[in-house]
Amino acid sequence: MKHRPDQIELPSYKHQSPEVAARFDEINRRPVVMTVGGVGRVFESPQGSVTALRDIAFEVRQREFISVIGPSGCGKSTLIRIVSGLETCTTGAVLIDGKPVLGPGPDRGMVFQAYTLFPWLTVKANVMFGPNMKGVPKAQAEARADEWLRVVGLTRFADHYPNQLSGGMKQRVAIARALANEPRILLMDEPFGALDAQTRASMQAHLLEICASVDITILFITHDLDEAIYLSDRIVVLGAHPGRVLEVIEVPVPHPRSVDQFLSGPFLATKARLEELIHHRAGGDESAAA
Ligand code: ADP
Ligand code: MG
Repeated sequence: MKHRPDQIELPSYKHQSPEVAARFDEINRRPVVMTVGGVGRVFESPQGSVTALRDIAFEVRQREFISVIGPSGCGKSTLIRIVSGLETCTTGAVLIDGKPVLGPGPDRGMVFQAYTLFPWLTVKANVMFGPNMKGVPKAQAEARADEWLRVVGLTRFADHYPNQLSGGMKQRVAIARALANEPRILLMDEPFGALDAQTRASMQAHLLEICASVDITILFITHDLDEAIYLSDRIVVLGAHPGRVLEVIEVPVPHPRSVDQFLSGPFLATKARLEELIHHRAGGDESAAA
């Protein structure tokens, strides 16, 4: 017999099974790859200044999957653009391996919400573009492109042009293109936001597989609570006006992840906490989720 979610007594989202606690112990022994150190960003406009981000601080360890969630306008895109080096901060700094980010670099790949392929290049040429620019020998760049197209399930479409693909397929090419550069850090700004539910689910599964097999650290922005819980080790919850950290949550759902876990106690307890933080602007009162 399945219980309805509202009939189950939820555990606290802070409660971790021994296997989940052991996983976080292991993660916390890994080196810190990225430090977001007191990052603030003020935009000046004719209407006055807007504090998009205030004192954002968290660390990301090697091979961690970190999501950032928060309401529209809380500064998520500004934050990931600062990490990518496309945008600057007005206070604080982002460090990669202890060194400040001064601009974009090949160590960080970026996938945007909108499809950003070169329309005049084939799918395969789009994926090979980064390796070619970096001077990777052609045969090697080609082999890398073939491999990533296989991973995202698009081998058959290698010679197609972007306008011959669906939105979901274009986004898979964009992800293959980012991964073909072999970045140590992948920055994704609502990458599945424009996809239909089924494509989104298959992309999420692909991404979990990639994380399990490749040494890559991911900073992932979404406003979808289920997506954040399903994919992440930890979730940074931002509040708006000004954009600030409300809480950093260690997701208590065990690995490997599967869609069967969506109705599990740890998953629902985490979702209840996220809803409380985002929709009720709670300031640290955990009693409802405990
Ligand atoms: P999110 O991605 O969470 O929806 P954004 O990072 O896009 O939020 O925006 C955060 C805030 O910063 C918003 O109030 C937005 O209007 C403002 N903002 C973002 N970029 C600029 C800019 N280039 N100039 C002025 N204001 C900006
Ligand atoms: Mg945004």
